Amino acid sequence: MTEPLDVLILMSDTGGGHRSVAEAIAEGLAREFPDRYAVTLFDVIARGALFPFNHIPEWYLPFVTFSETLWGLLFRATNNRLMTSCLIQVSTWVAGRALEKYLRERSPALVVSVHPLLNHFPRRALRRIGSRAPFVTIVTDLFDAHRLWFDRAADLCIVATDRAREIARQCGLADARVRVVGHPIRLSFLGDGRTRAEARAACGLDPARRTILLVGGGEGMGALYEIARALAQTRLPIQLVVIAGRNAALQRKLAATTWEIPVRVEGFVTNMPDWMRASDLIITKAGPGTISEALACGLPILLSGFLPGQESGNVTFVETSGVGALRRTPDEIARAVREWLTPGDDTLARWSTRARALARPRAALEIAAQLDALVRAGEVSPPPAGATLPADERLPLEFPDDRKF
Ligand code: UDP
Repeated sequence: MTEPLDVLILMSDTGGGHRSVAEAIAEGLAREFPDRYAVTLFDVIARGALFPFNHIPEWYLPFVTFSETLWGLLFRATNNRLMTSCLIQVSTWVAGRALEKYLRERSPALVVSVHPLLNHFPRRALRRIGSRAPFVTIVTDLFDAHRLWFDRAADLCIVATDRAREIARQCGLADARVRVVGHPIRLSFLGDGRTRAEARAACGLDPARRTILLVGGGEGMGALYEIARALAQTRLPIQLVVIAGRNAALQRKLAATTWEIPVRVEGFVTNMPDWMRASDLIITKAGPGTISEALACGLPILLSGFLPGQESGNVTFVETSGVGALRRTPDEIARAVREWLTPGDDTLARWSTRARALARPRAALEIAAQLDALVRAGEVSPPPAGATLPADERLPLEFPDDRKF
């Protein structure tokens, strides 16, 4: 049996979305091409960036939580050619050397990036070490993606929507190198044929009660506690599931509260499809991963907020696609839920139908097929002779948290 080909997915745990996308692609490759690929997820920032930048994943949540406005200003101020090229220089300086060493060590057959800060130096690093492995970028912002996502040197750029393809075009990417495939989500979202009542029972919920799911991305961001309180005080005949993600303080506070309605509190869950299938409505910030997963579950979306800049376009996407709406304050959210659950109101049913029509639950499988085609094309024209490096340049690097599939 031949050795599986090494595939590296470059990501970083800033939020939960990049890891979810990386895992979805790894699952797609494993399902479509069993034994052909060995996929490693590599958190380039945490494992390879210079100190103190290697701590960015830890700063991310406090920074975006306490300075949303500043984050939005930074997004807008850097979303132009000049500032993007400065960011590329800085990110190359911060993490480029470590990544190059890592690539030398691994000689992967394929490198994929799912993070905008990691899109620009890997292709150049590959060529510098004599590798002709293809480099692919996967853009996860649904609508108004930052220009940092788009690297003209990438062999392939995969985007989720036509609007993102348009931005790629504006950033100078050739149409032939851009594919609109959809946002990759994990294969467990493909559906298991259970009804909502069965899904509720499987989650230990009351099968007969309408169910509202409240989430704030992987980090449990936003005013989740206040929204939960406002919903509980409506005393509607509903049950509420609050997923606090990695926000342990929020989880403790929710668990210590006495509620007027049935409330189920969870920390970071690994079975999000089950919770989504059990629910009639999701209340979430405008994270692209959660939105795409909700579409796959036919779940109407009430957006409770968004990160200015990177998630603003996702709000436009949800509202113009007819799958949900934005309500900013806990009181507005509670009023909207009351209205939409009034007998005879068809808002949620309409959004649910539209969500199913818009969903791309097979995106990870389609991306896997595109990646495989690219690798096979490279196999037809092998790398030039002399690409192997002297043994003394093969410096071993320790990356203990790499995840193998
Ligand atoms: N997620 C999860 N378990 C949790 C909370 C979130 O698996 O307890 C996943 C969720 O299903 C989604 C991702 O984390 O895939 C969040 O991505 P999104 O793009 O919505 O937001 P981000 O966290 O990146 O800001």
